[in-house]
Amino acid sequence: MYEGVVQDLIDELGRLPGVGPKSAQRIAFHLLNSDSADVRRLIGALGEVLDKVKFCVICGNVSADEQCKICRDPRRDPGVLCIVEEPKDVVAIEKTREFRGRYHILGGAISPLDGIGPDELRVKELVTRLASNEVTEIILATDPNLEGEATATYLARLLKPMGLKVTRLASGLPVGGDLEYADELTLGRAFEGRRLLDV
Ligand SMILES: [Zn+2]
Repeated sequence: MYEGVVQDLIDELGRLPGVGPKSAQRIAFHLLNSDSADVRRLIGALGEVLDKVKFCVICGNVSADEQCKICRDPRRDPGVLCIVEEPKDVVAIEKTREFRGRYHILGGAISPLDGIGPDELRVKELVTRLASNEVTEIILATDPNLEGEATATYLARLLKPMGLKVTRLASGLPVGGDLEYADELTLGRAFEGRRLLDV
């Protein structure tokens, strides 16, 4: 639609989550009309993310170092592992201050329609991590939607035979929703009221 580099920019922006073609066009023209110093700051931030952000080798969370702050913190209980889909879920749970254990980030949820199975998630890393026998309880904190429930069921079936206590966050979370959108109180209560999974 537009010539050369402008269209390239619109195409790239349009690949971002939640940005449709119209928004991509709006953002592109906003950038074109912006102060060049502002645009350079954005470019700088993108470059920094690319260079400096790593993923924790233990839990898979975004981290400034090889191991993230939570994995390095000796005050966190190594016996309880909370399994979440994305790093943003860790942020949501940390805000509740209800959880003092550690995390494992899957990197998504099982979704056959999107071609995402257990092999596309950090399940193998989880099993390896559990081999040290330090963990006794697993809290499945995947999203309360179809994919999240399927993932929780899959993991419960995988982990229970290993002799682990497997719990799921209590209901009260908005069904079909996303963990990060639950308010702190609801999410906190869901933690306290977590229940054992029968699979
Ligand atoms: Zn970590």
